[in-house]
Amino acid sequence: MKPPRFEYSAPETLDEAVALLAGNPGARPIAGGQSLIPILALRLAAPTLLVDLRQLPGLAAITVDTAGVRLGAKVRWCDIEDDRRLTSAHPLLHAAVAHVAHYQIRNRGTVGGSLAHADPAAELPGIAVTCDAEIGIVGTTGQRTLRAAEFFTGPLTTELRPDEIITELRLPCWPAARRWGFEEFALRQGDFALAGIALFYDEDAQGRACNPHIGMIGACGRPHRLEAVEALLDGRTIDDQTIAAATRAAAAAVDPPADLHADAKYRRALVATLVERALRAAAHNRGA
Ligand SMILES: Cc1cc2nc3c(=O)[nH]c(=O)nc-3n(C[C@H](O)[C@H](O)[C@H](O)COP(=O)(O)OP(=O)(O)OC[C@H]3O[C@@H](n4cnc5c(N)ncnc54)[C@H](O)[C@@H]3O)c2cc1C
Repeated sequence: MKPPRFEYSAPETLDEAVALLAGNPGARPIAGGQSLIPILALRLAAPTLLVDLRQLPGLAAITVDTAGVRLGAKVRWCDIEDDRRLTSAHPLLHAAVAHVAHYQIRNRGTVGGSLAHADPAAELPGIAVTCDAEIGIVGTTGQRTLRAAEFFTGPLTTELRPDEIITELRLPCWPAARRWGFEEFALRQGDFALAGIALFYDEDAQGRACNPHIGMIGACGRPHRLEAVEALLDGRTIDDQTIAAATRAAAAAVDPPADLHADAKYRRALVATLVERALRAAAHNRGA
C-alpha cells in the first residue's frame, strides 16, 4: 500500500523543527522511518506534515564520560554496535542492541525513534527503564528531562507532547565490576521479542547481590522493572536456590497478555525461564 499524502520539511535547526511541530497539529517527526513508514503504508496514521530530523545538528553523538553514556536521538543501532567503547562503558546496552531487527533496519533506526515509538517489545526502552535512564526532550516550552520509568505510559504511548522532540538518552555510569545478563526470545532472528529480560546487580564484599535491577520487555504493555524479584535477590548470593526462587517470583509477578503469537501461560513461563538464563549469564558477565 502507498502512504497517504503528506507535506515534507527538513529543518536545519531544533527551534525550526519544534516550531513546525507546534504550528501544524497534524505534523509528526520522522527519523529513520523504520517504524513510521510502515505505519503510514498501513494507513494506521495520516500525518499532514513529516518533519524530517535528518539535518538537525548535534543529535548523532555517543558520549562516554564519568557521568555515563549519552546517546543522541539520531544515533542509529549500527552506531551503537560499532562503538567498541560501549562494550565496557555499557555492556548491557551493547548486548541488547545486537537483538534489534535486521541489518538494514539497524542501519537506519534511531534511538529517538525507538523511544518515541515505545513498542513494548523493543529493546532500548527496556534498557532505559532497567538502567534508570533519563530522556532529554525539547519543545516550545523549552527543555525538560523525564525518567524513562515515567516516560513510557503504555503500548506505543509516552508522555511526549506533539510539539516535542527527543534529543538524547542518558544512561548512568556503569561500574566495571557490575554483573549483567540480557536474554530474549523471538520466533525468528530479528523479530520483536515475545519476551525479554535485562538485568544487572552489583556485589558486596561477601559476594552477595546488591542494587539488583530487572527489567522486562515484550510480555507487558510497557517496559517495567520486576520489583518483587529485585527485592528477593537483594542481599543474597546468586546460587541455584536463589535462582529457583527468583524464577518462581518472576512467574508470579507478571500478568502477560495473550495474542496470536503466544498465550499468557506460555509467556509467563518464558519470562521465568529468561530470568533464570539472565541470572546464570550474569555469573559470567562482569564489566565487558
Ligand atoms: C521488520 C522490523 C523489525 C523490527 N524489529 C525490531 C526489534 O526487534 N527491536 C526494536 O527495538 N525495534 C525493531 N524495529 C523497529 C526499528 O528499530 C525502528 O527503527 C525504531 O523503532 C524507530 O526508529 P526510527 O528512527 O526508524 O523512527 P521513525 O520510524 O522515524 O519514527 C518512529 C516514531 O518516533 C517518532 N520520532 C522519531 N524520532 C523522534 C524524536 N527524536 N523525537 C520525537 N519523536 C520522534 C516519529 O514521529 C514516529 O512516531 C523493527 C522494525 C521493522 C520494520
